Amino acid sequence: MLVTLKENLEKADKENYAVGAFNSPTLESVRAVTEAAEELQVPVILSHAEVHNEVIPLEIIGPILVDFATKASVPVTVHLDHGSSLENVKKAIDLGFSSVMIDASHLSYDKNVSTVQEVVAYASKYGVSVEAELGVMTSSGIGGEETAGHEPGGKSPDYLTDPLIAKDFVEKTGIDALAASFGTVHGIYTKKPALDFNRLQAIYENIQKPVVMHGGSGLSEGEYRRVIGLGVRKINYYSYAARAAAHVVEEYLNKEKNVFYHDLTVAAKEAIKNDVKKAMVIFSSPKMKI
Ligand SMILES: [Zn+2]
Repeated sequence: MLVTLKENLEKADKENYAVGAFNSPTLESVRAVTEAAEELQVPVILSHAEVHNEVIPLEIIGPILVDFATKASVPVTVHLDHGSSLENVKKAIDLGFSSVMIDASHLSYDKNVSTVQEVVAYASKYGVSVEAELGVMTSSGIGGEETAGHEPGGKSPDYLTDPLIAKDFVEKTGIDALAASFGTVHGIYTKKPALDFNRLQAIYENIQKPVVMHGGSGLSEGEYRRVIGLGVRKINYYSYAARAAAHVVEEYLNKEKNVFYHDLTVAAKEAIKNDVKKAMVIFSSPKMKI
Protein backbone atom coordinates (compact mmCIF):
# COMPACT_ATOMS: atom_id res chain seq x y z
CA MET A 1 0.00 0.00 0.00
CA LEU A 2 1.13 3.55 -0.74
CA VAL A 3 1.94 5.54 2.39
CA THR A 4 3.55 8.92 3.02
CA LEU A 5 7.07 9.29 4.33
CA LYS A 6 5.63 10.83 7.49
CA GLU A 7 3.54 7.73 8.21
CA ASN A 8 6.38 5.38 7.40
CA LEU A 9 8.95 7.20 9.53
CA GLU A 10 6.69 8.01 12.48
CA LYS A 11 6.20 4.30 13.07
CA ALA A 12 9.94 3.71 12.65
CA ASP A 13 10.66 6.49 15.14
CA LYS A 14 8.30 5.03 17.70
CA GLU A 15 9.73 1.54 17.34
CA ASN A 16 13.36 2.58 16.81
CA TYR A 17 14.19 1.11 13.41
CA ALA A 18 15.00 2.58 9.97
CA VAL A 19 13.27 2.26 6.61
CA GLY A 20 15.48 1.64 3.58
CA ALA A 21 15.09 4.02 0.63
CA PHE A 22 16.25 2.48 -2.60
CA ASN A 23 16.69 4.32 -5.88
CA SER A 24 15.02 2.21 -8.52
CA PRO A 25 15.84 3.50 -11.99
CA THR A 26 15.27 0.18 -13.77
CA LEU A 27 12.42 -2.32 -13.78
CA GLU A 28 14.84 -4.90 -12.32
CA SER A 29 15.48 -2.69 -9.31
CA VAL A 30 11.80 -1.80 -8.77
CA ARG A 31 10.89 -5.49 -8.79
CA ALA A 32 13.88 -6.53 -6.68
CA VAL A 33 13.25 -3.95 -3.95
CA THR A 34 9.49 -4.56 -3.80
CA GLU A 35 9.85 -8.34 -3.73
CA ALA A 36 12.54 -8.15 -1.05
CA ALA A 37 10.34 -5.95 1.16
CA GLU A 38 7.31 -8.19 0.65
CA GLU A 39 9.23 -11.39 1.38
CA LEU A 40 10.59 -9.87 4.58
CA GLN A 41 7.30 -8.03 5.31
CA VAL A 42 9.08 -4.76 6.03
CA PRO A 43 8.12 -1.20 5.02
CA VAL A 44 10.16 0.37 2.24
CA ILE A 45 10.74 3.54 0.23
CA LEU A 46 10.99 3.41 -3.56
CA SER A 47 12.97 6.45 -4.67
CA HIS A 48 13.61 8.15 -7.93
CA ALA A 49 16.71 10.36 -7.86
CA GLU A 50 16.21 13.35 -10.10
CA VAL A 51 19.69 12.86 -11.53
CA HIS A 52 18.57 9.44 -12.81
CA ASN A 53 16.23 11.20 -15.25
CA GLU A 54 19.09 10.53 -17.67
CA VAL A 55 18.69 6.78 -17.05
CA ILE A 56 14.89 6.89 -17.11
CA PRO A 57 12.70 10.00 -17.07
CA LEU A 58 10.52 10.67 -14.04
CA GLU A 59 7.43 10.60 -16.27
CA ILE A 60 8.17 6.98 -17.25
CA ILE A 61 9.40 5.45 -14.00
CA GLY A 62 7.10 7.48 -11.71
CA PRO A 63 3.80 5.74 -12.58
CA ILE A 64 5.56 2.36 -12.35
CA LEU A 65 6.80 3.11 -8.83
CA VAL A 66 3.33 4.28 -7.76
CA ASP A 67 1.74 1.17 -9.27
CA PHE A 68 4.14 -1.19 -7.46
CA ALA A 69 3.63 0.69 -4.19
CA THR A 70 -0.16 0.64 -4.45
CA LYS A 71 -0.24 -3.11 -5.09
CA ALA A 72 2.39 -4.08 -2.50
CA SER A 73 1.45 -6.02 0.63
CA VAL A 74 3.71 -3.79 2.76
CA PRO A 75 3.72 0.01 3.35
CA VAL A 76 5.63 1.67 0.48
CA THR A 77 6.51 5.36 0.15
CA VAL A 78 7.23 6.68 -3.35
CA HIS A 79 9.80 9.43 -2.98
CA LEU A 80 11.60 11.96 -5.16
CA ASP A 81 15.28 11.99 -4.16
CA HIS A 82 17.27 15.25 -4.42
CA GLY A 83 14.53 17.23 -6.11
CA SER A 84 16.14 20.43 -7.36
CA SER A 85 13.17 22.75 -7.82
CA LEU A 86 9.53 23.31 -6.95
CA GLU A 87 8.74 22.66 -10.59
CA ASN A 88 10.20 19.12 -10.41
CA VAL A 89 8.53 18.52 -7.06
CA LYS A 90 5.20 19.45 -8.65
CA LYS A 91 5.80 16.94 -11.45
CA ALA A 92 6.42 14.14 -8.92
CA ILE A 93 3.33 15.07 -6.90
CA ASP A 94 1.22 15.12 -10.08
CA LEU A 95 2.41 11.56 -10.78
CA GLY A 96 1.24 10.39 -7.36
CA PHE A 97 4.47 10.45 -5.33
CA SER A 98 3.71 10.44 -1.60
CA SER A 99 6.96 12.13 -0.61
CA VAL A 100 9.50 14.54 -2.06
CA MET A 101 12.94 15.77 -1.13
CA ILE A 102 13.86 19.33 -1.97
CA ASP A 103 17.62 19.77 -1.95
CA ALA A 104 18.45 23.44 -1.63
CA SER A 105 21.41 22.78 0.66
CA HIS A 106 23.88 24.39 -1.74
CA LEU A 107 22.09 27.74 -1.40
CA SER A 108 22.56 30.25 1.42
CA TYR A 109 20.83 29.30 4.68
CA ASP A 110 18.03 31.83 4.25
CA LYS A 111 17.43 30.79 0.65
CA ASN A 112 17.44 27.11 1.67
CA VAL A 113 14.78 27.89 4.31
CA SER A 114 12.56 29.91 1.95
CA THR A 115 12.83 27.31 -0.85
CA VAL A 116 11.87 24.50 1.53
CA GLN A 117 9.01 26.56 3.00
CA GLU A 118 7.61 27.02 -0.49
CA VAL A 119 7.78 23.27 -1.18
CA VAL A 120 6.20 22.38 2.18
CA ALA A 121 3.35 24.85 1.53
CA TYR A 122 2.69 23.22 -1.85
CA ALA A 123 3.17 19.57 -0.84
CA SER A 124 1.01 19.85 2.28
CA LYS A 125 -1.99 20.73 0.10
CA TYR A 126 -1.69 17.24 -1.39
CA GLY A 127 -0.83 15.43 1.84
CA VAL A 128 2.68 14.77 0.53
CA SER A 129 5.64 14.57 2.92
CA VAL A 130 8.80 16.65 2.54
CA GLU A 131 12.44 15.88 3.28
CA ALA A 132 15.04 18.65 3.06
CA GLU A 133 18.79 18.84 3.52
CA LEU A 134 21.02 20.93 5.72
CA GLY A 135 24.77 20.69 5.41
CA VAL A 136 26.19 19.27 2.22
CA MET A 137 26.32 15.61 1.21
CA THR A 138 29.36 15.12 -0.96
CA SER A 139 30.19 12.28 -3.35
CA SER A 140 33.16 9.91 -3.33
CA GLY A 141 33.66 10.39 -7.05
CA ILE A 142 32.71 6.77 -7.81
CA GLY A 143 29.00 6.85 -8.51
CA GLY A 144 26.83 8.80 -6.12
CA GLU A 145 26.27 11.69 -8.44
CA GLU A 146 22.91 12.55 -6.82
CA THR A 147 24.02 15.98 -5.77
CA ALA A 148 25.23 17.42 -9.04
CA GLY A 149 27.41 20.44 -8.54
CA HIS A 150 28.79 19.40 -5.16
CA GLU A 151 32.51 18.90 -4.94
CA PRO A 152 33.67 15.37 -4.11
CA GLY A 153 35.60 14.73 -0.95
CA GLY A 154 34.09 17.10 1.56
CA LYS A 155 37.29 18.02 3.34
CA SER A 156 35.99 21.02 5.21
CA PRO A 157 33.92 20.44 8.37
CA ASP A 158 31.60 23.18 7.08
CA TYR A 159 29.77 20.58 5.07
CA LEU A 160 28.58 18.80 8.23
CA THR A 161 25.17 19.68 9.68
CA ASP A 162 25.21 22.03 12.67
CA PRO A 163 22.82 20.67 15.34
CA LEU A 164 21.71 24.13 16.52
CA ILE A 165 21.00 25.36 13.01
CA ALA A 166 19.17 22.07 12.36
CA LYS A 167 16.70 22.90 15.13
CA ASP A 168 16.01 26.32 13.63
CA PHE A 169 15.73 24.83 10.13
CA VAL A 170 13.18 22.19 11.10
CA GLU A 171 11.13 24.67 13.15
CA LYS A 172 11.05 27.24 10.35
CA THR A 173 10.26 24.84 7.53
CA GLY A 174 7.99 22.22 9.15
CA ILE A 175 9.62 19.36 7.21
CA ASP A 176 8.88 15.72 8.03
CA ALA A 177 12.48 14.46 7.89
CA LEU A 178 15.93 16.04 7.78
CA ALA A 179 18.78 14.83 5.58
CA ALA A 180 21.79 15.51 7.76
CA SER A 181 25.47 15.36 6.94
CA PHE A 182 27.56 13.66 9.64
CA GLY A 183 30.24 11.82 7.71
CA THR A 184 28.67 9.66 5.03
CA VAL A 185 29.25 10.41 1.33
CA HIS A 186 27.40 9.39 -1.81
CA GLY A 187 28.79 6.61 -3.99
CA ILE A 188 31.37 3.90 -3.37
CA TYR A 189 33.59 4.58 -0.37
CA THR A 190 37.24 5.04 -1.30
CA LYS A 191 38.17 5.24 2.38
CA LYS A 192 36.42 4.21 5.56
CA PRO A 193 33.77 6.80 6.45
CA ALA A 194 34.37 8.70 9.68
CA LEU A 195 30.92 9.04 11.19
CA ASP A 196 30.37 11.80 13.76
CA PHE A 197 28.01 10.01 16.13
CA ASN A 198 27.96 12.84 18.70
CA ARG A 199 26.83 15.26 16.02
CA LEU A 200 24.07 12.87 14.90
CA GLN A 201 22.85 12.44 18.47
CA ALA A 202 22.74 16.21 19.01
CA ILE A 203 20.88 16.75 15.72
CA TYR A 204 18.23 14.16 16.58
CA GLU A 205 17.78 15.48 20.12
CA ASN A 206 17.43 19.03 18.82
CA ILE A 207 15.00 18.41 15.97
CA GLN A 208 12.87 15.61 17.47
CA LYS A 209 12.16 14.41 13.92
CA PRO A 210 13.43 11.50 11.84
CA VAL A 211 16.97 11.90 10.52
CA VAL A 212 17.81 10.73 6.99
CA MET A 213 21.21 9.25 6.21
CA HIS A 214 22.30 9.68 2.60
CA GLY A 215 25.24 7.71 1.21
CA GLY A 216 23.94 4.85 3.32
CA SER A 217 25.22 1.83 1.42
CA GLY A 218 28.67 0.44 2.19
CA LEU A 219 28.65 0.84 5.98
CA SER A 220 29.20 -1.95 8.50
CA GLU A 221 26.37 -3.63 10.37
CA GLY A 222 27.65 -2.09 13.60
CA GLU A 223 27.57 1.39 12.06
CA TYR A 224 24.00 0.89 10.86
CA ARG A 225 22.88 -0.28 14.28
CA ARG A 226 24.58 2.65 15.96
CA VAL A 227 23.14 5.37 13.70
CA ILE A 228 19.65 3.86 13.99
CA GLY A 229 20.02 3.90 17.78
CA LEU A 230 20.82 7.62 17.45
CA GLY A 231 17.77 8.61 15.40
CA VAL A 232 18.36 7.69 11.76
CA ARG A 233 14.97 6.55 10.41
CA LYS A 234 15.55 6.60 6.65
CA ILE A 235 18.64 5.16 5.04
CA ASN A 236 19.31 5.92 1.38
CA TYR A 237 20.88 2.79 -0.01
CA TYR A 238 21.83 2.49 -3.66
CA SER A 239 25.42 2.43 -4.91
CA TYR A 240 26.45 -0.93 -3.44
CA ALA A 241 23.33 -2.69 -4.71
CA ALA A 242 23.91 -1.26 -8.19
CA ARG A 243 27.53 -2.45 -8.08
CA ALA A 244 26.47 -5.89 -6.87
CA ALA A 245 24.24 -6.23 -9.93
CA ALA A 246 27.04 -5.12 -12.25
CA HIS A 247 29.45 -7.66 -10.74
CA VAL A 248 26.98 -10.51 -11.20
CA VAL A 249 26.37 -9.50 -14.82
CA GLU A 250 30.12 -9.36 -15.43
CA GLU A 251 30.60 -12.85 -13.97
CA TYR A 252 27.70 -14.14 -16.03
CA LEU A 253 29.17 -12.75 -19.24
CA ASN A 254 32.58 -14.25 -18.45
CA LYS A 255 31.15 -17.69 -17.66
CA GLU A 256 28.34 -18.27 -20.14
CA LYS A 257 28.35 -18.43 -23.91
CA ASN A 258 25.46 -17.32 -26.13
CA VAL A 259 24.12 -14.90 -23.58
CA PHE A 260 20.87 -13.07 -24.25
CA TYR A 261 20.18 -9.67 -22.75
CA HIS A 262 17.09 -10.83 -20.87
CA ASP A 263 19.25 -13.36 -18.97
CA LEU A 264 21.32 -10.45 -17.69
CA THR A 265 18.24 -8.63 -16.41
CA VAL A 266 17.22 -11.73 -14.44
CA ALA A 267 20.70 -12.09 -12.94
CA ALA A 268 20.82 -8.37 -12.11
CA LYS A 269 17.43 -8.44 -10.44
CA GLU A 270 18.40 -11.37 -8.21
CA ALA A 271 21.68 -9.67 -7.27
CA ILE A 272 19.91 -6.45 -6.27
CA LYS A 273 17.30 -8.39 -4.33
CA ASN A 274 19.91 -10.35 -2.37
CA ASP A 275 21.87 -7.22 -1.58
CA VAL A 276 18.95 -5.05 -0.47
CA LYS A 277 17.45 -7.90 1.55
CA LYS A 278 20.56 -8.03 3.74
CA ALA A 279 20.28 -4.27 4.29
CA MET A 280 16.55 -4.46 5.05
CA VAL A 281 17.09 -7.12 7.72
CA ILE A 282 19.57 -4.87 9.53
CA PHE A 283 17.52 -1.67 9.12
CA SER A 284 14.17 -3.08 10.18
CA SER A 285 15.01 -4.87 13.40
CA PRO A 286 14.25 -2.59 16.36
CA LYS A 287 17.37 -1.23 18.06
CA MET A 288 18.29 -0.48 21.62
CA LYS A 289 18.18 3.26 22.20
CA ILE A 290 21.74 4.38 22.77
ZN1 LIG B 1 21.56 11.74 -1.37
